[in-house]
Amino acid sequence: MPRHALLVTTAMIAALAAAPLAQKNTAKTDSRAGAKASGSNAKLDAFKQEAIADVESRAQFSQQMVDQIFSYGELGFQEVETTRYLADILKRNGFAVQEGIAGIPTAFMATWGSGKPVLALGSDIDCIPQASQKPGVAWHEPLIEGAPGHGEGHNSGQAVNITAALAVKKIMEREHLPGTLRIWTGTAEELVGSKAYFIRAGLFKDVDIALFTHVDDKFDVSWGAREGTGLVSVQYAFLGETAHAAANPWRGRSALDAVELMDIGWQFRREHLRLSQRSHDVITDGGDQPNVVPRTASVWYYFRETDYPHIKELWETGDTMAKAAAMMAGVQLQSETVLGSAWPQHFNKVVAETTWANIQKIGMPKWSDEDQQLAKAVQKELKNPTSDGLRTKLRDGVQGPVTENYGGGSDDIGDISWNVPTVTLRYPSNIPGLPGHNWANAISMATPIAHKGVTAGAKVQAMTILDLVMRPELVDQAWAYFRDVQTKDTKYEPLIRPQDKPAIWLNKATMEKYRPEMKKYYYDPSRFKTYLDQLGIKYPTVNREQ
Ligand SMILES: [Zn+2]
Repeated sequence: MPRHALLVTTAMIAALAAAPLAQKNTAKTDSRAGAKASGSNAKLDAFKQEAIADVESRAQFSQQMVDQIFSYGELGFQEVETTRYLADILKRNGFAVQEGIAGIPTAFMATWGSGKPVLALGSDIDCIPQASQKPGVAWHEPLIEGAPGHGEGHNSGQAVNITAALAVKKIMEREHLPGTLRIWTGTAEELVGSKAYFIRAGLFKDVDIALFTHVDDKFDVSWGAREGTGLVSVQYAFLGETAHAAANPWRGRSALDAVELMDIGWQFRREHLRLSQRSHDVITDGGDQPNVVPRTASVWYYFRETDYPHIKELWETGDTMAKAAAMMAGVQLQSETVLGSAWPQHFNKVVAETTWANIQKIGMPKWSDEDQQLAKAVQKELKNPTSDGLRTKLRDGVQGPVTENYGGGSDDIGDISWNVPTVTLRYPSNIPGLPGHNWANAISMATPIAHKGVTAGAKVQAMTILDLVMRPELVDQAWAYFRDVQTKDTKYEPLIRPQDKPAIWLNKATMEKYRPEMKKYYYDPSRFKTYLDQLGIKYPTVNREQ
């Protein structure tokens, strides 16, 4: 604790030196030597209290963002309405918005302020195929059958960042505090499709700290290696020759045979892969019709492992199998396209501890009986072993590095985290025990559960931004951890190859198919207070007999 106090002192002095107005005010109230530090400390605390109240007063603004993006329900690389909407909000609030960054039309980097530190606030924006779901209804009830929907909750993270940024911006402007706030989109995260390209384009070169937000059912932050995997996403395309499948099958060569042989080969090899790997595929082109031997066929794999060398190894095994399958089928392996990639995630100790202290101050949101009823009904509907509703407690302390990593999901925030000190603030806007990438994960995402979680998250994010702006030594310590610990033995090498490009054509046809129908359900905040109101959904809808 004394050491902590000492750090605060140094920080405060630095902040005072950088902020003439703050210095003047402090000097007025504190005359004794050494009182400067506690004065600045009091100032930081006062600014935090002000930011908390400001975020609270913007609860409706945050709710509208959450509901609006929920209603857009856009898949990766097709987040056209979402990015236009967010960019407009940011422009109206004095941010300069650089659109179409890294060759991705639905990605932007917005900037406000000047000088150090440069803080980059990011969050994902895309949704999940076939996850269309009425919010607040405790069973599977799509708004539009087969349409995409926010079955992960990526409709909420930008609201956390933007609300926090606007609250802090107000204070920074008034107090003339130096610092630059950046807000950027995690575009096509479900395809791990953008962040490695942001790094390649140099968009994080001058960034001091990346503060990422992600929806969760916990209120949490972690440092060190995170449980889960990195991955490379690869599509193999095969080329054969058509023939009449009944009259002259011997004249044809089936590209689909190569896809199926590769898949069978992979299933056999799976037994001999490390337990930490995850690999899965979908057939994106399986031929045209049965009486025509398929000339083209494609299969799309995710190769996941817990570190860079093992991801590369898994990828090589896939390449070998694709070549061998082509030989067996007598067809050509026409192309191998990288559609996405992600490094395993590693988060910064100093920034995580700073964030955690703020999480503790805010605590879990106060859930209403209605919130808990919905959560329990959804858990029951999914036949969860426990259905005890929403979490009401924080974990005991900040989550440290995972020691035994048994694999799991990925997020291309991993690539950012190996280039700039980064943390992911996980805020409580979802229901525990859900399958993920599923309609059930969309149920809470335009309800008071999501709204309360976002407001709580924005308070923490605002407090952490203030810490980093007013205590520059935290930024130095974060970089010391990044240089001396995190990247001491592990150096970032991109998984994407020089010839790879963002896969911006993905999901185009799906969105073109569903968008006309989805447009009818876009949220109109000028007419309805909430999206639930617009849809005429009673909150919560938990009883089928109603
Ligand atoms: Zn996500």
